[in-house]
Amino acid sequence: MAMDPKILKMMSRPRYTGVPTFMRAPYTEELTGLDIAMIGVPYDGGVTNRPGARHGPREVRNQSSLMRLVNQATGVRPYELCQVADIGDAYVEKPYHLENAHVEIQNAFEPLKVAGVLPLAVGGDHSISLPILRVLGADRPVGMVHIDAHCDTGEGHLGSRFHHGAPFSRAVEEGFLDPKRTVQIGIRGSLNDPDQWKFSYDSGMRVIQMHEAHAMGVDAVLAEARRVVGDGPTYLSFDIDALDPAFAPGTGTPEIGGFSSLEGLLLVRGLAGLDLIGADVVEVAPPFDPSGLTAMAGATIMFEILCVLAQAVAARR
Ligand code: MN
Ligand code: MN
Repeated sequence: MAMDPKILKMMSRPRYTGVPTFMRAPYTEELTGLDIAMIGVPYDGGVTNRPGARHGPREVRNQSSLMRLVNQATGVRPYELCQVADIGDAYVEKPYHLENAHVEIQNAFEPLKVAGVLPLAVGGDHSISLPILRVLGADRPVGMVHIDAHCDTGEGHLGSRFHHGAPFSRAVEEGFLDPKRTVQIGIRGSLNDPDQWKFSYDSGMRVIQMHEAHAMGVDAVLAEARRVVGDGPTYLSFDIDALDPAFAPGTGTPEIGGFSSLEGLLLVRGLAGLDLIGADVVEVAPPFDPSGLTAMAGATIMFEILCVLAQAVAARR
């Protein structure tokens, strides 16, 4: 496929110029002809600790001007495999009510599903994955590779069951996520209750805790992830707090003892060939990220995801 000449034009300009879009891709709200839509979800009304992820999309857009055309390690050229654009944000116009905000986010993703465009979303806190899964899992429950320090399969907390520590228990209950085809990677941190992530285990999710992932090594973790999700439709959700705060300090709920940036890239890269139907990168919180390092890590993870999504689009042709 011929590359969109607008991409080459943007890439040929100094990267620090112009209006920052994700990856310097063209900005359009027209979905016709698109394969992958990069979309911001600037909403953090579901956080349980430090806020700020609502500012994530802007800073990831800014840092993503460092991304180029070709994946150095795999040789994948996403813009030659498919048509990619930044379609702007899922505009939450009434952010003060969590569940209504989720309805607004869901409404923003419905047109992508109708148009057959894969979403690559940037949060926002992790609660935004629930409205996305309500769209992508509407026809049948989907599988998921979930990379995170937390299972996010909690229950009610501070008066809500829809906060950022609970999107995936809700997604299973509502029938959009298949727990038997869900793998959660990098789980760690202290608990208030040893059964805090009971929902994951009881529902049949494969939980690979961080110490187990460390002992297994990246290749074995990937083999297990591929076994769990199989060849059915699969969502990829990457919480930036999966990375160690030494690499990604700007996030709402940091936990030390996590993945390096390199391990994060390898985990995404190793998902090539899965039947991926969409993805998100969440929990980049710029107010806690004075160096911009976390947003840069998020942008680079996002580029790696763009490459495996583009491979999935190309494989379906
Ligand atoms: Mn999370
Ligand atoms: Mn997390």
